[in-house]
Amino acid sequence: MSKTCQNCGARCCRYFCFEIDKPDSFAEFDDIRWYVAHEDVSVHVEQGGDWYISIMNPCKMLDRSGRCGIYEDRPLICRKYDPEKCDLIGGDYGYKAEFHTPEQLEAYAREVLGKKNYERAKAAAREKIAQKQAAKPAKKTRKKRKSTQR
Ligand code: SF4
Ligand code: SF4
Repeated sequence: MSKTCQNCGARCCRYFCFEIDKPDSFAEFDDIRWYVAHEDVSVHVEQGGDWYISIMNPCKMLDRSGRCGIYEDRPLICRKYDPEKCDLIGGDYGYKAEFHTPEQLEAYAREVLGKKNYERAKAAAREKIAQKQAAKPAKKTRKKRKSTQR
């Protein structure tokens, strides 16, 4: 283990991160708003424009001394990670954007989609759900009636 790793407290083993689709509609932004409403979840956009979700949750294989408990059998993703190119120790990852709260995400989405478009799409999406939900009991009633007629 390198000296830097020894002093770091194994930060790279305390979260996991994967790429998500770049949002381009109100509904897609709203899904991400929901992701970041959860504790210890953040989303960032890399300089190249790719979107990632990070979940701050330590690996169960990490032992109390901050070492990998299954080092010889560690997954490929851990084997491929190069401590020499570790971007966690730098602190500044140069993200294009980073969201830790629903408010931050919503502000960004308003900017990208345009304030009016955002509000219009939001109202339309909510209305659609409300209509669907209002229609549900009616459907059940119709089915019930049918079965009574038999
Ligand atoms: S690779 Fe980076 S984050 Fe992982 S233990 Fe080493 S210094 Fe820390
Ligand atoms: S398996 Fe080992 S190296 Fe990989 S994240 Fe877990 S503790 Fe770290």
